[in-house]
Formats: sequence, structure tokens, C-alpha cells
Amino acid sequence: MEEYGKRIIPLTRPYFGQEEYQNVEQVLKSGWVAQGLRVAEFEQLIAAHEESSYAIAVSSCTTALHLALLAHGIGPGMDVIAPSFTFVATANAIEYTGATAVLADIRPNTFNIDPDSIRAIIHKCYHWDQKREILVHNETRNQLKALMPVHQFGLCADMPEIMNLAEKYHLAVIEDAACALGARIEGVHQGKFGNIRCVSFHPRKCITTGEGGMLLTDSEEFGKKLKALRSHCATQSEVSRHTKHMGFLMPEYPEVGYNYRMSDIQAAVGCAQAKKLDDILEKRKKAAKNYDELLTGFGWLKIPVVPEGYHHTYQSYVCMMDFSGLSIEKMNEKRNRIMTFLEERGIQTRQGTHAVHMLGYYKGKYGYKDEDLIHSYRADRLSIALPLYADISLEDQKYVVEMLAEGNRKS
Ligand SMILES: *Cc1c(COP(=O)(O)O)cnc(C)c1O
Repeated sequence: MEEYGKRIIPLTRPYFGQEEYQNVEQVLKSGWVAQGLRVAEFEQLIAAHEESSYAIAVSSCTTALHLALLAHGIGPGMDVIAPSFTFVATANAIEYTGATAVLADIRPNTFNIDPDSIRAIIHKCYHWDQKREILVHNETRNQLKALMPVHQFGLCADMPEIMNLAEKYHLAVIEDAACALGARIEGVHQGKFGNIRCVSFHPRKCITTGEGGMLLTDSEEFGKKLKALRSHCATQSEVSRHTKHMGFLMPEYPEVGYNYRMSDIQAAVGCAQAKKLDDILEKRKKAAKNYDELLTGFGWLKIPVVPEGYHHTYQSYVCMMDFSGLSIEKMNEKRNRIMTFLEERGIQTRQGTHAVHMLGYYKGKYGYKDEDLIHSYRADRLSIALPLYADISLEDQKYVVEMLAEGNRKS
């Protein structure tokens, strides 16, 4: 193991080639570095890949989620249901608008929002207002306006069930697909089920622009609204302003909007990345399969579950630890000892993500207890993401698995 003494196996690593450098150089030489033609090209590439009619690039997936909510008119006096076991950005975007993030639990095997948990919340806390045909909260009188499922770690949530609920109760659906570019259920892209889906190009995701996000929709109305909102609701884009007659005049700004634009420097990286997306997804899938095989027989480590007909993109390879007979807190201590053992051997791991209902702001504001959403709590305490990136070597994966086994014995 001497050779591994100095070796670092990161949790993830971007997959860049010459094209990214060349594209960025071109943009810098052109002098047009803010949102322009490169952003438009990047939008077209992603829209084509995801079979989406409209694509709107923005500064991050967090800002994408914010705009998706605003486009639905979501604000104070409204509730949006999202899973607890997700990156805090999902819930924060809801809170930005003045609406309330209502947290639901996940299914323990898929890490995705459990439609039964949504149903239970609706039955317990809301009633159907016949006249307005909306769900109203029994105490706060807030309207339940939308569901925000997350396609966690690259696996689609149970969208058929979620869409059934949305139809029944007249709810909007905004998909947090930050981790799920390219994910599908039975050949249908995840976003075809909902209204607006949001993806991320943060370096933790499959392809990256440093920071960046995109909204995808098939609705022309939303497409137009979102384009306006990302750029102060200007009635004219910078590109058309600078290429058309009388471009010296400022456009009209009829409403308050935001500067959530992506730059052409970022999009230049994105265009190169988008062209290798399928190759990257294929490589990640292969690496995930390697782990699946190497980890067979690890009774205490549950590998990611892929339900029939689902296509997992493995933004993260997240396992659950289960040492039967121990309490959650004892198991958590053991997990952390194993993760420390790995870290000392140059292997980076992380918990899958956190349970938002256990975080200070949400706990304090809404009075959650850890056990209220038991599967999210367990996943927070017992999940582990293993190193996975497009060019991880089989040799490195074997080392990770070997050290996992040793870490378990010694912890
Ligand atoms: C990464 C992530 C986000 C935030 O994406 P950014 O582009 O970093 O803003 C939101 N939701 C989920 C589920 C994520 O994993």
C-alpha cells in the first residue's frame, strides 16, 4: 500500500480537455464575455440533449429554482412541498420567495421524495377549498401551491405518482434536477413529467461551468417569462440590442427582475462539456457498475437501488450503512470513523447530502425534531458517497473498496 500513501482519490473531479481551453480563449479574444451567443449555443445543446423546447441558462441551479417558483407566481401565503433529504438550496429557493418550504420524507431505498409522505402531509394539514379548488392549510390558511421533487444523485423521483397527486390537487410541479441531467424513466426525460425542471453545472455535478444552472420547459409562456426574469425583465436581450437598429436606446423594464445571467466564459466551457455529456454519463455508469460488483457481499453497505425502468446517471454513488443491532447514533459514529479511516488513506468521501429539517434555520423556524422525518434523518446519519468521476480507474475503485472493508473491520 506504499504507493497509495501519497495518492489522493477525490470525491469527484471535472473532466476537461483541450476544447474547454480553446473555447474560453476564443471568448476572451472576442471581447464579449457577458451573456451572448455562447450562452445561446449552450442552451441549444442542452435543450437538444434533454428534448426540451426552451432552455434558459442562469447563474446556478439555486437561482434557476428561484425563477421557476417566481414564474408560477409563488410567494407569501403559499406552501411548497420538497423532500428533507436534499441540498439546502432546494428549500432555500422556496424561502427566498416568502413561501413556506414544507418538508416531506424520502423512500429509504431510492433517497427520493416519498409520495406517501406527501399524501400524509396533505391529509393531516390541508383541506380542499371547493370554491377555489385549492388545498388550504388548516391553521396558517396558506395555499399549497406546488411540489418540488428532487431527482436525487441522478435517479428520477417517482414522477408518475407525483404527477397524479399534482393533477388531483391542482399543484404545480417544479423539478429540482440539479443532479439529474440525462436521467430518465422508461425512455422519457425526467422533465417531460413536470412543468419546469432545473439543472446545475456546479463542479459536483456531471458536467460543469464552474457555477451555472439551466431551466428547461416545454411551455412557451414559461420560456418567455423566465428569459425576462433572469435579466431584470428587460424587453430586449443584449444580443438583439447590440445587433439591431437603434440599439443605443435602453429597453423598457416593466417589472422587477434579477441579474441571474450566465456569462459567455462559463458557457464556452459548457459548450465543450455538453458535447461530451453522453460519453461522461457512460463512463460514470461504468464506474458505478464496477462498484456494484466490487461491493457484492458487503452486507453492511447497501449499494444504490435502481428501480425497474429507471436510468440512473450517478451524479453521486451513495450507499447506506446498516450495522444491525446498533442505534442510529452509534451507527453514525461508526460511519464517521470509517470515513476518517478512508480520509487518512487519501480517499475522499462525504455523507450523501443532509436532512434539511435538521438544519438550524428550518429546525428553529418550523420546530422539527430529528425523528419527524425518520428516513431523511437516517440517510443524513448513515449515507456515504464514494469517489466517482468519469476517468476514475478500476484500480482506484478496488483500493476504495478494499479500504472500506478494512475500515469497517478496524472501526
Ligand atoms: C447542487 C444542488 C443544488 C444547487 O445547485 P447550484 O448550481 O450549486 O446552485 C440544488 N439542489 C440539489 C438537489 C443539488 O444537488
